[in-house]
Amino acid sequence: MKQGDIVSPKTPLETIFRLTPIQKTGLAKLSITTVEDLLRYFPVRYTSIADIKHIADLSKGEDVTIYGRVVSSKTSKGFRTKIPMTEAIIEDATGRVKCVWFHQAYIVKMLVPEMMVKLSGHVEERGEVPYLANPELVRTNELPLDASGSLFEDNHEMLVYPVYPETKGITSRFIYHHIQKLFSKGALGNIVDPIPEDILTKYHLPTLKTALVWIHTPQKESDAVAARKRFAFEEVFMIQLARQRERAQTKEHRGFIIDPEPKALAQFTARFPFKPTASQTHALEDIFSDIKKGVPMARLLEGDVGSGKTFVAATAAYAVAASAPADNKFGNLQVAYMAPTEILAEQHFKSFIEYFKGLPVEIGLLTGSGAKKFPSKTNASEATKVSRVQLLKWIAEGKLLILIGTHSLIQKSVQFKNLGLAIVDEQHRFGTLQRGKLTKKDMIIPHFLSMTATPIPRTLALTIYGNLDLTLLDEMPMGRLPIKTELVAKSNRKKMEEHIRAEINNGRQAYIICPRIDEPDPEKELALQAKSVIAEAKRIAEDIFPEFEVGILHSKMKPDEKEWVMEEFKKGAIHILVATSVIEVGVNVPNATMIAIEGAERFGLAQLHQLRGRVIRSNHQAYCYILTESTSEISQKRLKALATAKNGFELAELDLTLRGSGELSGGKQWGISDIGMEAIKNIKMVEAARTEASRIIAEDLELTNYPLLCAKIKTNHRDTHWE
Ligand code: ADP
Ligand code: MG
Repeated sequence: MKQGDIVSPKTPLETIFRLTPIQKTGLAKLSITTVEDLLRYFPVRYTSIADIKHIADLSKGEDVTIYGRVVSSKTSKGFRTKIPMTEAIIEDATGRVKCVWFHQAYIVKMLVPEMMVKLSGHVEERGEVPYLANPELVRTNELPLDASGSLFEDNHEMLVYPVYPETKGITSRFIYHHIQKLFSKGALGNIVDPIPEDILTKYHLPTLKTALVWIHTPQKESDAVAARKRFAFEEVFMIQLARQRERAQTKEHRGFIIDPEPKALAQFTARFPFKPTASQTHALEDIFSDIKKGVPMARLLEGDVGSGKTFVAATAAYAVAASAPADNKFGNLQVAYMAPTEILAEQHFKSFIEYFKGLPVEIGLLTGSGAKKFPSKTNASEATKVSRVQLLKWIAEGKLLILIGTHSLIQKSVQFKNLGLAIVDEQHRFGTLQRGKLTKKDMIIPHFLSMTATPIPRTLALTIYGNLDLTLLDEMPMGRLPIKTELVAKSNRKKMEEHIRAEINNGRQAYIICPRIDEPDPEKELALQAKSVIAEAKRIAEDIFPEFEVGILHSKMKPDEKEWVMEEFKKGAIHILVATSVIEVGVNVPNATMIAIEGAERFGLAQLHQLRGRVIRSNHQAYCYILTESTSEISQKRLKALATAKNGFELAELDLTLRGSGELSGGKQWGISDIGMEAIKNIKMVEAARTEASRIIAEDLELTNYPLLCAKIKTNHRDTHWE
């Protein structure tokens, strides 16, 4: 491409820059192909030159970054503590400093003499000699980007420089320089801002062009802040727009008018062996008020694991299946209940059989492995296997009123006669499209109830569930023993181990969770220094609990290996299961009552909470041990919150306020970038985005006057809904 040619947002970078194969692979890995992709690849942070220190200037208590050369490295053991550790000497032009990594003997392999490294950490002191304790280690060929390319000359022109997520072949420096080149080739000239100008003015947000310049080359901190704010707003606004449009489109349709007889309902709920909690009653009130309006319900029921969502789902299902709709034209309505896994579908089927026994409501189960029906012809209290074809026929005829299953429920071959209610468990991605698949064209749209146990902050819920009304189940059934959660100090490790030993001797079992599968690959993951599952399992089996069976579970194992280990653990043949955090969703071993979580500072609080949920499945007292080597105040605060927070929602809010943005885990899971998560931290911004999105949708549902917005939410929609 010649100088002066116009660079448009969609121009592939390959046609503008000469790229090496490694750079091409690297860019592909970062999903960067076009000019726009690169311009929208944002820095994760900025390093101020002020944080970078010469070794001679280090003083106790500071958080610093140093650049230097590895002089030597070795492993050793703490003199009294016997803690394994790595020590290294690092040198720059001004002097030498010692760095120490406790419990991380393997780091020595990464510290090759003569290598250039960047180290960030806290300066400690011993005998008045400063050293860096557990610094973050990154191998680098690059010195920080300043005008002269050398850190070691005084240069105060550029105060901050951007740090981008890097990959092999693509450094921050590469990205920075190529963006500069795009700017100078006039790439900004062809960029059109999708956000209407009046909105930008109202909220004092920079235009797209300005924001792109500011985010990549801020002259001062406030530039970067303003730019990030704009992109954060943009992201949340786009999601809101798409979701609210979906919601408005749903409301244009008719829904069945269902107004159940209170007496019949009371008789149904009396079948349960417990009294509903106030939360459950409230949730049912919300649902019943929705479904009598003649507009399709779109509601999310959010409640911790064990808060009793199935009761609510079953009662709603009963109301729909048993009470004919007010206009009574369709006969009895049907209910579809979709679960994320076969195991859970099977479990719900069994529960529903209990709840509906003796009532004139037939229930089906449809999964990838087959079909079942309740009641069986020969035995009214049991279910029986039937052929898929037969089951599908009953569904199409409207004879079968409740169908439970997995994703197989939304196949084309499944045609309901009169679907009145679709219930979806734990599938936040289930959109209108899929719901559309459940019903025939031009029919009345079924009511929709989504359920989730993932506690998320209110701002996030408002955003990603903008198409749904929200009901919280924020109360646990009475009589559960609350779990004991303890933040274990280093000096108390032995005590914890003794307690685990005693409980296992009492017949219980334990999980030990480690943050990573294997030793970090020294080339790729220098910065990751977590304990590994494999090494940890070995240490536990050999040094700590030689008398017990220790098993391993992680995501890289083959499915049949995993299954075997889970079976052994269920049987009690394995006493301690050392696993990564990805232990399967459906894992249910009531006898496991202890969970110890290593490197806990690496997990989000919501995730820790869910891990902890795995051991609250029986009447035995459950224990959760939180282990961390981080002494940072914020980590300690977060982890203490885990011990005190009353429920998952409280925790999710705390997590959001306590974690620095950029570190927030879980954003990706919701299709939100790190920058978008910055908006999620800001209720005002989320509300502004919501207000503007509603206004636009109310004025112009088809977005005829906003073609750019329309195009943009279409691409975003594809990204988040078609998995
Ligand atoms: P989840 O919200 O995780 O889906 P479940 O619906 O599976 O929770 O309920 C967990 C357990 O609590 C079940 O055994 C259920 O029977 C029981 N349960 C539900 N509601 C109540 C209640 N109000 N009182 C006592 N036990 C309840
Ligand atoms: Mg459930």
